Amino acid sequence: MKLAERVGQVPPSLTLSIAAKAKAMKAEGIDVCSFSAGEPDFDTPAHIKDAAKKALDEGKTKYGPAAGEPKLRAAIANKLQVENGLSYKAENIIVTNGGKHSLFNLMLALIEPGDEVIIPAPYWLSYPEMVKLAGGTPVIVSTDASTGYKITPDQLRSSITPQTKLFVLNSPSNPTGMVYTPEEIKVLAEVLVENDILVVSDEIYEKILYDGAEHLSIGAVGAEIFDRTIISNGFAKAFSMTGWRLGYLAGPVELIKATTTVQSHSTSNVCTFAQYGAIAALEGSQDCVEEMRQAFAQRRKVMLERLNAIPGLFCPQPDGAFYMFPNISKTGLKSLEFCDKLLETQRVATVPGIAFGADECIRLSYATDMESIEKGMDRLDKFVRSL
Ligand code: PMP
Ligand code: GLU
Repeated sequence: MKLAERVGQVPPSLTLSIAAKAKAMKAEGIDVCSFSAGEPDFDTPAHIKDAAKKALDEGKTKYGPAAGEPKLRAAIANKLQVENGLSYKAENIIVTNGGKHSLFNLMLALIEPGDEVIIPAPYWLSYPEMVKLAGGTPVIVSTDASTGYKITPDQLRSSITPQTKLFVLNSPSNPTGMVYTPEEIKVLAEVLVENDILVVSDEIYEKILYDGAEHLSIGAVGAEIFDRTIISNGFAKAFSMTGWRLGYLAGPVELIKATTTVQSHSTSNVCTFAQYGAIAALEGSQDCVEEMRQAFAQRRKVMLERLNAIPGLFCPQPDGAFYMFPNISKTGLKSLEFCDKLLETQRVATVPGIAFGADECIRLSYATDMESIEKGMDRLDKFVRSL
């Protein structure tokens, strides 16, 4: 069978495949410590599940509008106004099957052959692949620990060409956990406005911040950047709703209409009763979000201390999300070999940095219980000392 060329250009998602492998090993009775997929270990809060169950019982089981339930679109617009200072109406919002689907819809609606999309590395692994699937060209700009894994305004400026259409911003970041300060966001916004470049701001980790780190949504900097901003967000991380598949995009009406057209021919509306769970997530108490954040904060402290106590590893302190991104170059191994051997010999699942555009690092998710963290760090320590 001759497959379409476009699929030959993209590998399968390594985060998903390693997580699936770790789950399968566990199901076989193997004692695996999994730091692979970024998936909170908590159950979805009860009031959110109850709202979806009620909607199901009430017969909210039919097709709905492709762009989402009007009540949810309005609740999202309200959240963006109140929490992020962004003035959107319901018509500026599309509800999607997760943050990943939001970004994919956006790329399909916006990017065409010849268009360049600037992506700072280390990046979340799906960004470049989505750009390629849409026929565009990802332009990767490497950053390292010396700038806290942040793109500088000069780096951004010098990577812009007449073909540049979009800049991908992800703060707090997966995989590094770094958070751009409000000042840094303002300067990046200036460069984007000066050059008339669009920005998609992936804010899926906005609620998971530590030690006073502050999240500024780039669209809130001013009217000129607001007009060039698309927000991508979702419910998976903040509300522990990964399997619900619920996300959204916010942006100019023309673009939201175009993504709705794409969605109307691909997935139609997101599961109707699940959207009622999302309304409860936004309108209900936010205490659950803070409780989970506090648990992540404790785990972060323990994992960071343990990682930096291992000779040969170095991990900068992340300010957000739930990932550690230690440098492993002193071990002499490349990331794929490191992760394979670690899983094989010590039963610890991690993701090679090469998947995120940084072969000298590995990624560990600490969205897992403390016991697994302690046990996994003992094993990692033993592994590195044995090299
Ligand atoms: N953006 C980033 C940076 C992510 O890490 C993820 C998944 N972990 C997503 C988007 C997509 O999340 P989902 O599709 O589960 O909403
Ligand atoms: N995004 C999460 C991660 O980076 C989940 C897996 C995925 O969607 O790729 O681990």
